[in-house]
Amino acid sequence: MDRKKYLDKIISEFEDWWVNDPHSSNMDYYKDMITHSHLTSLTKKEFIDFFYGFVSDGGLVQSGGERAKNEFRKTISKDFDNFKLFVLKPFNGQFTLKDWFNQIENYPNFGVGIATIFLNRIDYNKYPIMNNKTLNALNKLGYKISSTKNWTNYELVKKYQDNLISDYPVLENYYKADALNHFLVAEFGQELILDYQQIEIFENGLEQNDIEHRTENELDKEELLNKIIDCENDNSEEITIKGKTYKRHNYLMVQIKKYRDYKCQFCSKKIPKSNGDYYIEACHIKAKSRGGKDRLDNILILCPNCHKLFDFNDRVDEKMKNDTYSVILNGKKYKTSLK
Ligand SMILES: [Zn+2]
Repeated sequence: MDRKKYLDKIISEFEDWWVNDPHSSNMDYYKDMITHSHLTSLTKKEFIDFFYGFVSDGGLVQSGGERAKNEFRKTISKDFDNFKLFVLKPFNGQFTLKDWFNQIENYPNFGVGIATIFLNRIDYNKYPIMNNKTLNALNKLGYKISSTKNWTNYELVKKYQDNLISDYPVLENYYKADALNHFLVAEFGQELILDYQQIEIFENGLEQNDIEHRTENELDKEELLNKIIDCENDNSEEITIKGKTYKRHNYLMVQIKKYRDYKCQFCSKKIPKSNGDYYIEACHIKAKSRGGKDRLDNILILCPNCHKLFDFNDRVDEKMKNDTYSVILNGKKYKTSLK
């Protein structure tokens, strides 16, 4: 599906949400408080109270957490001078973001989430926010990023949000770009993404049907395997079959379905259609958004029931050994060859 069309729709829905969400009115909430002159004018008690409040309120961006805030008060009271020096550093011209980022861990309960919110509250045109929501939402948007809140991912968040802001200037800055993440992980945004994923699955299904009818059915297993390997090693996005262009991904899925004889790799079921074809689904073991590849050993051919069982359950004791994949889903063990 056209990614641009999908994002256009999401951003326009987000714009409607933004107007009524507290995020918009809170954008400049700390404008006069988080400044060098204000913070340095505070007494020790006021300083501690301010940061205790900031952590309790999650900087009005994330939830605070009762236990974390009390632990945090102990941290700053005990290590006051260092903590004060640390939070004033970003106001200093000599400030190095990477070094500062790597020092966050020295202050328990002032985690990467709240620390990057603090930076963002200093200057939302300069510093992105990175918490679990950020990483989760970017992932949902199809960006390749893991769930670790480390420096590498912070640079990636910046890069991805720079792209988004340049494509959609209504996002304005990293604060508003982060609000988009909140929108996406909330119920309405989730539904919106699911709708679009369904459209994409539907469109891929249609294309795969078409490919099935344009490719030979009589190939034996070895010939199919050769085609799969050729296709895995091909880096192009598209492939032309008898004058018509298709996504290479869809072509590969069709070849793998044929290679697996349209049979569910978990329960062995085949679903016949009245026209003599069979219906079956393909899914990635390691999701593409997590760096998973379009390869025979990362694809499972599953019936719709097993596919949903696989999607909606925690994968317990997942193993990949000598081309055999095994996993426990909802208390039952499933095992299949990926050769
Ligand atoms: Zn099945």
